Amino acid sequence: LNFPDDERIIYGVQIGLTHMTRGSIIYLHCEICGEETPHRILRGKIGSTLEEGFDGTVQCHVCGKIHHVQIPVEKPKRLPMVISHRGKSTTSEIELSPRELIRVGDEFYHEDHNLMITSLESGGKRTKKGLVKDIDMIWSKIFDTVDVRVSIVKGSNTRSEMIEAAPDEEFAVGDILDFGRSKVMIDKIRLPTRTVYRQGLAAEARYIKRIYSKPVKERLR
Ligand SMILES: [Zn+2]
Repeated sequence: LNFPDDERIIYGVQIGLTHMTRGSIIYLHCEICGEETPHRILRGKIGSTLEEGFDGTVQCHVCGKIHHVQIPVEKPKRLPMVISHRGKSTTSEIELSPRELIRVGDEFYHEDHNLMITSLESGGKRTKKGLVKDIDMIWSKIFDTVDVRVSIVKGSNTRSEMIEAAPDEEFAVGDILDFGRSKVMIDKIRLPTRTVYRQGLAAEARYIKRIYSKPVKERLR
């Protein structure tokens, strides 16, 4: 058994859960392991009523034991949430499944905005991840757009511009950016762990630390 690291891990059954399908991973008590371990869903279904919950067959990731499980759907937990945007904060509330694992960096849609979790509080302490049942407070920021910094290098002069982009908007080496009074061509893109130089290679705005560019000469337009 080998679970991909980046697979969304869910814990228990969530109301209206559509992504809990064959191959999903849930945390359950394993009688062989004697503790709660990740289990892969082999087959099963979500009942049409809350009481029916999830009925299916799962396999423990740690020991390989196959279990039949029936998990009632739990009432969602209401959590206070701070939403920050450009230096201002508002408070809101969100309902989540108690057994759902949430992490700093998770994105979700709430009241017409894409939000990203920036911090979590559990038992008076800040934490990077936790099950909703253990979390007391969520800090988030509006993540509809990101500010992409662009350096325009002309000889020994460098000036900076900013582009507001959707997080999943792509920028590629060789792309032309238009700042009204000047057009520039992307020369390289700095990402958290590397810099991209090759023509045509693209990165999503959310990962970009800085774009380096050169002015495009008028006659090339
Ligand atoms: Zn086990």
